[in-house]
Amino acid sequence: MEDCIFCKIINKQIPSQIVYEDDEIIAFKDIEPVAPVHVLVVPKKHIASVLEISEEDKILIGKIYTVIQKLAIELGIDKDGFRVVTNCGENAGQTVKHIHFHLLGGKKLALTM
Ligand code: 5GP
Ligand code: ZN
Repeated sequence: MEDCIFCKIINKQIPSQIVYEDDEIIAFKDIEPVAPVHVLVVPKKHIASVLEISEEDKILIGKIYTVIQKLAIELGIDKDGFRVVTNCGENAGQTVKHIHFHLLGGKKLALTM
């Protein structure tokens, strides 16, 4: 996707602080962190949102959670706890139309709605 900022990060057209990468998934630090640990875990396949996940993406979405688990341990937030957030659409405040999973931790997180 030409105009997608996360596709550009995936293609290394724009720099990011990558903390994990394999053939299918990349994870990098959020440019505007809202917690001491704020990483975005992103499938390399351009899926616009939760609503666009298809049957063939099931295994990929499962793998995302395996990466999240690994990163939570590596980044030292597994014991105290963390949050995984995926915004979808306008009311949720989704700003980047390439599905991503915010991994947040390192402090007591407020519940906001
Ligand atoms: P959303 O609001 O769509 O759930 O989350 C998008 C996230 O992407 C935001 O937290 C925002 O700070 C982050 N973001 C937007 N542009 C960039 C960028 O160019 N690089 C990085 N590392 N993060 C970005
Ligand atoms: Zn994309």
